[in-house]
Amino acid sequence: MLINALLYSYDLTQHEYRPSHPFKPARARLMYELLNRYGLISEENQRIIAPPLMNEELLYLFHTRGYIELLKKGEKGEFSVEMLHAGLGTEDNPLFKTMYQYAIAASSGTYEGAMMLYRENARFAFNPFGGFHHAGRDRAEGFCYLNDIAVTITDLIKKGQRVAYVDIDAHHGNGVQDAFYETDRVLNISLHESGETLYPGTGFEVETGTKEGAGYNVNIPLRAGTDDEVYLFAFESLVPPLIKSFKPDVVVANIGCDTHRDDPLAHLSLTSNGYKKVISIINDLSPKILALGAGGYNLFRTAALWTLAWAAFCGLQPHDLHAGIVGGMMYGPEINAGQLDDPPFVVEGREKEQCLAHARRVIDFVKDNIFPVHGITS
Ligand SMILES: [Zn+2]
Repeated sequence: MLINALLYSYDLTQHEYRPSHPFKPARARLMYELLNRYGLISEENQRIIAPPLMNEELLYLFHTRGYIELLKKGEKGEFSVEMLHAGLGTEDNPLFKTMYQYAIAASSGTYEGAMMLYRENARFAFNPFGGFHHAGRDRAEGFCYLNDIAVTITDLIKKGQRVAYVDIDAHHGNGVQDAFYETDRVLNISLHESGETLYPGTGFEVETGTKEGAGYNVNIPLRAGTDDEVYLFAFESLVPPLIKSFKPDVVVANIGCDTHRDDPLAHLSLTSNGYKKVISIINDLSPKILALGAGGYNLFRTAALWTLAWAAFCGLQPHDLHAGIVGGMMYGPEINAGQLDDPPFVVEGREKEQCLAHARRVIDFVKDNIFPVHGITS
């Protein structure tokens, strides 16, 4: 029996960077409630696992010892200028009293999920607390303290696995790109809002990798305003041929939900319809999948999209077990407790033309410059 695993612990949902900080681990608790409400977490082949704490030595597969020391000191309330240089104690990455504890516990779910795929009979594992794609070797960035993705993929490669990384978070995965820029052991694909309008300002299509990694780093930047149709056009034109040709053992999917049109930080215009379609394509392309939560700053939307992703990866249909009960009672009036899906939304007119032209330009670039490296004819 193939296992589908959710790496989840209530304790992790209780951490908070700062009350005013947009990144909320509590999103995972909302998702967990939705998984129950929609009857998606009671199958015989499903497991809910509170991840055991990973061995700290594993962090050094990617991070420097000096940086980990800084995280530990920062957590104890010490402060130095060195920390600021390492991106710690900033507005995005504040010092908080469970900072290192939280970061390593959240990363442990990613590592445990990967090991379940590698060692055990698991086909799919999801860590909603993972996906810190901005963290660097020796610095925190963009709400990310430890790069669970770089650490885990490095270990999978050491174990001889071929790994494709697909990042559909609205932000460019700069930390992961930097980690594997010179190697052909990882196929790194990131779709994101263009760096012209969004942090971290990188991820242009011309960043294609160097040395052995030339042609193994694929950026698909999209124009602000891009809707489901244009996003899917870009995704379907490029991602399936690349993954089919690379033939990974494992696909690591960073499934952030800040591409949604209701997200307060990014400017893409996706709905649940586009998101679900992308997830189902990833599912069809992947022998084994490690999915990671990543971004998403509209809390209910993020929980709803993760729920839909979980259902798709597990091959289930959501059924509202509370149908007929007033939904708003569950979450209070401040959060939309409506349906998981939202209605179709299509951008029109000049904005649509501009988004489409932008996507076409990027698609052509990738087909001209990256497909030949993989022997793909388009
Ligand atoms: Zn993001």
